[in-house]
Amino acid sequence: MIILKIGGSILTEKDSTEPKVDYDNLNRIAEEIQESLYADEISNDLIDGLVIVHGAGSFGHPPAKKYKIGEPFEIEDYLEKRIGFAEIQNEVKKLNSIICESLIAHGIPCIAIPPSSFITTHNKRIYDFDLDLLKTYIREGFIPVLFGDVVIDDEVKIAVISGDQILQYIAKFLKSDRIVLGTDVAGVYTKNPKTHDDAVHIDEVNSIEDIKFLESTTNVDVTGGMVGKVKELLDLADYGISSEIINANEKGAIAKALQGMEVNGTNICRK
Ligand code: ADP
Repeated sequence: MIILKIGGSILTEKDSTEPKVDYDNLNRIAEEIQESLYADEISNDLIDGLVIVHGAGSFGHPPAKKYKIGEPFEIEDYLEKRIGFAEIQNEVKKLNSIICESLIAHGIPCIAIPPSSFITTHNKRIYDFDLDLLKTYIREGFIPVLFGDVVIDDEVKIAVISGDQILQYIAKFLKSDRIVLGTDVAGVYTKNPKTHDDAVHIDEVNSIEDIKFLESTTNVDVTGGMVGKVKELLDLADYGISSEIINANEKGAIAKALQGMEVNGTNICRK
């Protein structure tokens, strides 16, 4: 079982204030997934189960920031918060629908599973998540597609959950063999490589100590950027599940990673 997370930075123009899909990346990646799933024409099951998780990018982050989702608020502001929640959920559903359209056009039997319809959180962390339906779809050969979304929280009432947190949670409970995260840089660097020419690539992260000196992402991102991602993955590594962060802007990188070939990136694992 493989979980593939495709970042909002890849599928959308992430820094755009308007929701904008990166169709070139989307269609290319759909083709790479199709190629990897069905590369073996005889047995037709090169990969034994795949779940796709995608980020919200410019569909989710700007409205989440505008409505300050996740921050404490007074009860008289609850209506406005609910409007914000509805707006974000609607936007991320639109992105998910565009992504699924491309996957289906490439012959991938995907099934959208919106997190807001079945996940709740406790202080922004998932605690109620029934995976039975997900398992049934996987067993029947479907490719479930989940995404960063808004959910009801029993402390802060309304919360954003990142695709990275969803990935971490389902990987644990589905006992995933392999995790691949496609983002717009080749993994973790000593500094943000987008803003620092002297950033040095880190091949492997084994503990929080390895990343404590990192500055956080400069993108408009309410879910923690690269540091948040690595923290989720280290949590997963504690369960014995390793993951790799790769640059999905690189043509063929996702196809190679899905097929178990070596790709330039950062491995997150415990020693
Ligand atoms: P995604 O939308 O693909 O999940 P994020 O925007 O959350 O990705 O995180 C990736 C971004 O993190 C990169 O575009 C990069 O600019 C930023 N970043 C910040 N610090 C680092 C770092 N030390 N190493 C790698 N990337 C970093």
